[in-house]
Amino acid sequence: MFYNKGVDAISRLQLLSAQMSLEPAEEASTGRSAGQKPVCFTPKQADEVFIHPAQMPDGRQIELLKTLLSSACERDCFYCPFRAGRDMRRATFKPDEFAALFMNLYRVGAVEGLFVSSGLAGGGVRTQDKLLDTVDILRHRQGFGGYVHLKLMPGAEKDQVLRAMQLADRVSVNLEAPNTDRLSRLAPHKQFIEELMQPLKWVEEIRRTMPPPHQPWRRPSDYATTQLSHYATNQLRDYKGHWPSTTTQFVAGGADESDLELLTTTDWLVRNLRLKRAYFSAFSPIPDTPLENKAATDPLREHRLYQASFLLRDYGFDLEELPFATDGNLPLPTDPKQAWAESHLSQTPLELNTADRSQLLRVPGIGPKGAEKIVKARRERRLRDLSMLRKLGISAERAAPFVLLDGQRMAGQLRLF
Ligand code: SF4
Repeated sequence: MFYNKGVDAISRLQLLSAQMSLEPAEEASTGRSAGQKPVCFTPKQADEVFIHPAQMPDGRQIELLKTLLSSACERDCFYCPFRAGRDMRRATFKPDEFAALFMNLYRVGAVEGLFVSSGLAGGGVRTQDKLLDTVDILRHRQGFGGYVHLKLMPGAEKDQVLRAMQLADRVSVNLEAPNTDRLSRLAPHKQFIEELMQPLKWVEEIRRTMPPPHQPWRRPSDYATTQLSHYATNQLRDYKGHWPSTTTQFVAGGADESDLELLTTTDWLVRNLRLKRAYFSAFSPIPDTPLENKAATDPLREHRLYQASFLLRDYGFDLEELPFATDGNLPLPTDPKQAWAESHLSQTPLELNTADRSQLLRVPGIGPKGAEKIVKARRERRLRDLSMLRKLGISAERAAPFVLLDGQRMAGQLRLF
């Protein structure tokens, strides 16, 4: 069912941004949860669209509009609310219509960035062209220089991938499942290698072989009249020309895949295609889809997958070191880093005054920033007790069972806290 007829653009944006609101995006959204607190988008209108606070890689937080260009789709993925033939309200925008609406939001200070995807209509190539045209209008006709995350459609061609990379700050492909076999259980008409993995490979090939693009729309004068010129101006000042980062998304539990399968593919993507991040969305059954009777995935599994993926990406862990059970899944009750430390450091605790950075990262409660602080602090004086760790912002209680400070086990000091 199409919703466009007689429906104004604001109502369509409300619908499409709500339909996109559960798609995870950007580094770590903080503050308001996705979809929970829609905001008014002009001072005068009571209408609401879903705008999300999103944290940029450099730590800045921006107001991100996440939306579909169209929720019409010709495919029939088993898990998806937008699958063809499902009775639901749908809407669609033309590229110039959407670009004008977005710029209205931008100029009144309601949004600073855009994450845009779409259902498929007329094939992946045609749909990708519409997405590209939308961002092209924003960049070249409207002069928008802020953050854009652009979804690559299944089957996008190489020149489209290049064009997307010239226009966007981030591009992503939803792999949905970790391999061909698993994808066939979720989306029988999607081709894992040819349609989904290939665009990601092209992104990395382009990054490796071509110089970063010239982006003439990044001019400070374009932001002088907006209420959000601060972020844009900072972005311009920092801008040196770069290719976009890449992310992907998996539906965790939708195809009965194991954590080992998901993390094997994630690890390969990070190491070989410099994937910035994998997002894991716990499967949740949608009424009137072929998987409507399948049990929902425990949200804790999603959390454990994120923890494990960060251990692989940022903490120097190898896949073989993660505590997979015989079924290939991580134990839900235990943090994977805690489980590793309990079997490797309980009997042989680590001396924090001499451990190198990679060893420090193995200790629960010590992250990359904490490890840097420890290395810096001990250049000035030896670390002797847990209070010194606490002053560095380290979670002393979590670290204590696994460390020595000046040769002393610290677990006994916990009662002092
Ligand atoms: S192609 Fe995308 S929007 Fe269409 S049914 Fe599949 S997952 Fe849903």
